[in-house]
Amino acid sequence: MSHAWLIVGPPGSGRSNAARAFAAALQCAEGGCGECNSCRTTLSGANPDVTLVRAQGLSIGVDEVRGLARKSAMTPTGGRWQIIVIEEADRVTDQASNALLKSLEEPPPRTVWLLCAPTPDDVSVTIRSRTRELHLVTPNDDDVARLLINRDGVDQQTAKQVAHITQGHVGWARGLARSESARATRQHIITLPSRLTGVGACLQEAAKLVSIAESQVKENVAELDATERANLDASYGIGGGSRPAEIATTYARDKKRLEEEQKSRAKRLVRSELDKVFTDLTTWYRDVLTLQLGATPLPGTAPGVLPAVQIVNVDAADAITAAAQATTTAQTIRYLDAILTARAQLDHNVSPLMAMESLLLSLGSKR
Ligand SMILES: [Zn+2]
Repeated sequence: MSHAWLIVGPPGSGRSNAARAFAAALQCAEGGCGECNSCRTTLSGANPDVTLVRAQGLSIGVDEVRGLARKSAMTPTGGRWQIIVIEEADRVTDQASNALLKSLEEPPPRTVWLLCAPTPDDVSVTIRSRTRELHLVTPNDDDVARLLINRDGVDQQTAKQVAHITQGHVGWARGLARSESARATRQHIITLPSRLTGVGACLQEAAKLVSIAESQVKENVAELDATERANLDASYGIGGGSRPAEIATTYARDKKRLEEEQKSRAKRLVRSELDKVFTDLTTWYRDVLTLQLGATPLPGTAPGVLPAVQIVNVDAADAITAAAQATTTAQTIRYLDAILTARAQLDHNVSPLMAMESLLLSLGSKR
């Protein structure tokens, strides 16, 4: 049994779900029955011997990792193992990596670390060398569609379409199948390239995309923010009587800290919303390039041609065909480069609006 695992796979391949299932299988006396108390508490995140870590802000810092290291040194209270799951090990800072490394080097006998990241290169080489790698693959369209139909009751046609559009990203496919606003946002994005007709339009669209992302995040975190605030208030007994001055001071400090954490989380989530926009745009231009390089637009339209390379955005086939005819492959490659640049800018803390404006100006440029 290895004490440290690195679970890697592209977004949507189910890294954190796999890690949880693995943790449940380790805690369960039956090897993962899915029904006993150990399995259920582990999967729901309530097992005291399984710590699930998700980055609240942009990164996981050294203090947090030191806390985890202390937890990892403890004997499991009731379970068979002490398990620490870091769902976004790629967000561990360099300094925190060193702290983590110490724990990975001398693990107590009943401790297991499960680290998740998109690729092995997303964690430091030294961490990688001390873990056993587990590679997940993206499920194919049919598998995703079947899951949506059987598990989520999505109708067959919608299931097939969203499975294809989302390229095997299960969570995204489900969100798209079940949420009307997610479908509206997608519609907005796949029709975007044809609206970039001038500088004014580009700037306007950039502002709109960022504001859609911000309001989406606001809606998603409103309940969580309110619960966290209520918990804090309750722990200080807010709502009844007057408090001594020193308590008022610590309350004010904790409230400020919570507000900062919530702000940092919202910022991170806006970036990940915009990352989805970049993904949609990337597949859109990838489709344009596919057509420009001579693939047939839809299967069966050109007899005798080798298996047609399918376009991803089947729901935007007309606009993609038009764009493929109106531009050159060199232009399309420049557009794809511009998307990569914008993505890198967001990673380097350029403001979302600035990154988006500069991207859309490039996409709107005919050169
Ligand atoms: Zn079980």
